[in-house]
Formats: sequence, C-alpha cells, structure tokens
Amino acid sequence: MSYYIGVLTADQQNRIFHQLAKKSAVTNSCDRCGSPKFGVLGRMHLPVHDPLHAETTKDIPTVIVACHDCGHLSLFALEKLFSKEDEFVL
Ligand SMILES: [Zn+2]
Repeated sequence: MSYYIGVLTADQQNRIFHQLAKKSAVTNSCDRCGSPKFGVLGRMHLPVHDPLHAETTKDIPTVIVACHDCGHLSLFALEKLFSKEDEFVL
C-alpha cells in the first residue's frame, strides 16, 4: 500500500499551522527533539479499515507536520481543524 502525499501551497500551510496553534496542538518546537525547525509538510488521505466489515474502508483527510531536524511526523485530521463553514478545500 502506498500513500500519496500532496503538496500544499504556502498559504494553506500557514492557515493549517495557524489553526493548529489556535487549538494548542503545536508548540514552538518539535515534541521529540525540541528543534524550532518544523512545519506543515503536506496532506494525505489516511485509509481506515473497519475490522468488522472488511470491505468497508474510509479515509481521513490528514495533514502532516514534520520536524526538519529529527524527522518526527505528526498527523492531524483536517475535519477537526476546520469547521464546515470554512472554505478550506484540499
Ligand atoms: Zn525533531
């Protein structure tokens, strides 16, 4: 299985990072190594399989925050960051 990582514009990256900071989901440094060099890397659709219904799969639109020093990755579900009224389209 492969995961496509989509590119985000600088504006989209800034809007996502602003929302993460607004919800206190990120700090000013990497959770693992403390480096201040981290940011929004891209987006992906994370597939989720329902073990009770093997044929059922859904995916969660996700953004990836990456540390540029240690490579630690964090995933955040877009639907939890933005309300439906927002016009954030990926
Ligand atoms: Zn790090």
